[in-house]
Amino acid sequence: MMFEFPKLVFLIVVFAAIWIVYRWVNGPRRELQRRRGARPPAIPAEDLVACGVCGAYVAAHAPGCVRSDCPRPR
Ligand SMILES: [Zn+2]
Repeated sequence: MMFEFPKLVFLIVVFAAIWIVYRWVNGPRRELQRRRGARPPAIPAEDLVACGVCGAYVAAHAPGCVRSDCPRPR
């Protein structure tokens, strides 16, 4: 046997204690999330489009960059 019996029992008790503490720490947070709704709040985001000339990704509604040959609307 790799472990003596008392050591095995001690390990099980330690793991059980860790699990209980983990549950205790995460319990209130989960309860809060359930009250707010299952899904996390959505982050407002805009679609990104690549500028044909400068290659930079900009928001779809953003005006063109400083380059005079930028194809994006001003
Ligand atoms: Zn550009």
